[in-house]
Amino acid sequence: MPDPIWVHFTQLEHIIRFKQKRRECNYCQQQINNALRAAYIYFRNCEQH
Ligand SMILES: [Zn+2]
Repeated sequence: MPDPIWVHFTQLEHIIRFKQKRRECNYCQQQINNALRAAYIYFRNCEQH
């Protein structure tokens, strides 16, 4: 089961200039790395949710 943090982010298609796939915040469209740690750190600071 995916981590519940991911309900707040949309998986993006692979973007060629990034090694990792990207995720986009559902509230402010900020893109982050597809990594749990990045998601938790980002979401805590997101001002739109
Ligand atoms: Zn956000």
